[in-house]
Amino acid sequence: MQGRTMIGSLGIGKPFPVRVESMLRTPLDQVEDCLREIHCLHEEGCELVRIAFPEVTLSDNLSKVVSFSPVEVMADIHFDHRLAIKAVRSGCRAIRINPGNMGSSRNLVELSTLIKDAGTVVRVGANAGSLSRSQIEKAKGDISRALFEAVRVQILALQELGVERIIMSAKSSSIPVTLKANALLAGKFRYPVHVGLTESGSGQKGTIRSCVAISSLLGSGIGDTIRISLTGPSVDEVIVGRRILQALEIRRFEPELISCPACGRRRVDVASLVERIEPLLKRLPAELNVAVMGCEVNGPQEASNADIGVAGTASGMILFAKGKVKGVCSEEEIEDRFFEVCRELGYFI
Ligand code: SF4
Repeated sequence: MQGRTMIGSLGIGKPFPVRVESMLRTPLDQVEDCLREIHCLHEEGCELVRIAFPEVTLSDNLSKVVSFSPVEVMADIHFDHRLAIKAVRSGCRAIRINPGNMGSSRNLVELSTLIKDAGTVVRVGANAGSLSRSQIEKAKGDISRALFEAVRVQILALQELGVERIIMSAKSSSIPVTLKANALLAGKFRYPVHVGLTESGSGQKGTIRSCVAISSLLGSGIGDTIRISLTGPSVDEVIVGRRILQALEIRRFEPELISCPACGRRRVDVASLVERIEPLLKRLPAELNVAVMGCEVNGPQEASNADIGVAGTASGMILFAKGKVKGVCSEEEIEDRFFEVCRELGYFI
């Protein structure tokens, strides 16, 4: 049993960083579009891409996608062990199977032999929506326990056949159910855990639901790879995933921007100032803390930890670092002056 595994050169599990992944929206019959989407995801920082592989006839397409993808590709398999076999033969270094969906034990023997030879990683991923009535009845209606049992039984079957490169996952659209199922799994096995909240929704609501679930799990030490399952463009999943990891101070990808909520003391429109400062951060080192504050009375003190900050004054703007004023300018000059002060402070990348 191992607490980490490798998908190609991508390490999953401690001591490797928590990975950010996403799932392609583009169907596999559109190879060029799949690769376009993967490149967009890669540019946003996606480290592992999952792709639905629903038909054996799409094997050649899968092979092309895997060959030209800049990130590792995990084939998502349901119901048919032949698809899993084809995915491994197509060069996928990782497959996700739904527990109990691989048919007879002979099928599993055939698949296990192949994945051991190829060094493929198997994610055993149970989803509350795929549980059978008998699995739920056996767990006396406890969906968390049914998810745990589904994954446990599949892992034991794989272990018996000598498969050790395993990632486990248990998801539901209910946060409490997901938390409990993952706690049960992490308490039983040492394999890396993929975490996420399935069908979390769209926009702000889906983002908040995913943040709550994933942060709770990561905060309790569970989770080696994450996916934010959002209705919307796949790149949003990566952006949100990275922001969760950065907010929890698990990983650092970009300068941290803080801004005040603005109150009656404000001397500037803080929201529009944030919109002007945010794009400038791409040119600064990731470890910097940047503040955008509404007034000079409280701003520099409230943001005394900021490496560089801006605040409104009665006559324009001040720029400050670690609570000390470093420059002044008019509101119109803020971008240029911001870069000048950064340069003076030696912050440029
Ligand atoms: S920095 Fe100034 S404007 Fe912003 S919340 Fe604090 S007191 Fe209000």
